[in-house]
Amino acid sequence: MVSDISELRQDFPVLERRVGDEPLTYLDNAATTQTPTQVYEVYEEFYEGYNANVHRGIHALSHEASIAYEEAHDRLAEFVGASGGREEMVFTKNTTEGINIVAYGLRDQLGPGDEIVLTEMEHHASLVTWQQVAERTGAEVRYVRVDDDGRLDVEHAKELIGPDTAVVSVAHVSNVLGTVNPVETLAELAHDAGAYVLVDGAQSAPTRPVDVEAIDADFFAFSGHKMAGPTGIGGLYGKRHLLEELDPFCFGGEMISHVTFDDAKWNELPWKFEAGTPPIASGIALAAAADYLDEIGMERVREHEDELAQYALERLEARDDVETYGPPPGVERTGLVSFNVEGVHGHDLSSLLNDRGIAVRAGDHCTQPLHDVLDLPGSVRASFYVYNTTEEVDRLLDALDGGPGHDGVAEQVEEYLASDRYHDRIYEHHRNPHNEGGLDDPTLRKHSEETTCGDEGEFHVDVADGTIERIAFESQSCAVSRAVASILSEYLEGRTLEEAASLDGEVAAMLEGTFPDLRRDCVVGPEEVISEAAREYLDGERAAVAGDD
Ligand code: PMP
Repeated sequence: MVSDISELRQDFPVLERRVGDEPLTYLDNAATTQTPTQVYEVYEEFYEGYNANVHRGIHALSHEASIAYEEAHDRLAEFVGASGGREEMVFTKNTTEGINIVAYGLRDQLGPGDEIVLTEMEHHASLVTWQQVAERTGAEVRYVRVDDDGRLDVEHAKELIGPDTAVVSVAHVSNVLGTVNPVETLAELAHDAGAYVLVDGAQSAPTRPVDVEAIDADFFAFSGHKMAGPTGIGGLYGKRHLLEELDPFCFGGEMISHVTFDDAKWNELPWKFEAGTPPIASGIALAAAADYLDEIGMERVREHEDELAQYALERLEARDDVETYGPPPGVERTGLVSFNVEGVHGHDLSSLLNDRGIAVRAGDHCTQPLHDVLDLPGSVRASFYVYNTTEEVDRLLDALDGGPGHDGVAEQVEEYLASDRYHDRIYEHHRNPHNEGGLDDPTLRKHSEETTCGDEGEFHVDVADGTIERIAFESQSCAVSRAVASILSEYLEGRTLEEAASLDGEVAAMLEGTFPDLRRDCVVGPEEVISEAAREYLDGERAAVAGDD
């Protein structure tokens, strides 16, 4: 465990702030970590001292900026264990862009009969990108199963990875389960099959020592904002000979060495992948983040992550009303635990926790297919970093316990909704929803899934002569969204489909803005769903009439 945490926390002034009347307990680090002064001071130094464009200018400022920016590449290469220096380290916007660079570069090598092997725990950054490559090339995507303990089924990987495999793209660490995947084994399987291996290091580069050469990764992508660095900058490691072969993704200045009216030659590595003026200060700040973490020691970061996760897991599992996901206690995981509390939607829970100053994330965490495998609309995730303490985990658990009266979580949510932050109608409709259920053979039905917060529901509507005769809804959404669906169903009964199609903030107006801004999406979301359904239906009818003509 990082021993001198109170000293280390002083590097992060934001941790001193309050949310409302409560001290901030920041447990959303798998989304974005906080940035220490040592990192953001780089911006001041850069803009005060040597702000200039890189590579081009023969003047002192440009020279200094170029050296700092280029050396930052060497620093990040070293940070992930690449011995080839800057030529093996491309700066990107984030992990997503790194994965896209590789996918774009490899797509010409893929075609029908080729297979791209991913895992069921992939983030959308990888999953959607490779799906698109498959769609455009005729290759097929296959998924290595996750077992009941949230671990990768390596035997299944062995079955899937074979002569037809062209690419294996795998998350090093799952951002939902906390599982640390055996990427060395997967790289070996991939290479034996003659396939490339791309490791998504978004959750591993920040949390453990990474050695891309020991893993034998062909490519490794990561994000600065998850490793105490700034947003808008990340890295893509690639073996030098593979980056040389890869086509760039973006064209323009800086990425060329020679241009004629007919043709252009690409610049040397890594600049061939960094078209246009890069985020210079952010790149230099990313190197400062690597320095900061190495000063702590990545092995200590890894231990700290695991210890906090095990502690949180133990305390959460001790509760009868909580279900956790991912490897069982005792199995190494990164510093995060995803869970659900019985009978409480994650979105409601995270609102409640926010009220206590605790920042967690609820939803599908950009892994909708994994949540389908887990048969969950979403989960709540508490994720830790070097500055988090066991006391902060206790604060989370105490908040679940409730205040002095020790109310259960569901009771606390009730109280929260009954509070004067919300319009009385929300509470009334939450307690007594109208039109909940389904209709037999409705005229139109609209299913919706809100991927960010894990809401899911379906509206059923019976229409006669353009008028909504009956409307009902089924919902696995948060309490606010469900209450709004109920209010909306009451409002729309007897109105025309045209009126439904042109809904524009009616519910928010009815509630006179009496709800926290944080819940605006829950208030307008159901309205957007039903108005889209009405528009689609009316468009369909118009098209049918036009066809009849
Ligand atoms: N992969 C994983 C495993 C992640 O956790 C994330 C971020 N949640 C990403 C990819 C995408 O990172 P970014 O949004 O910084 O591109």
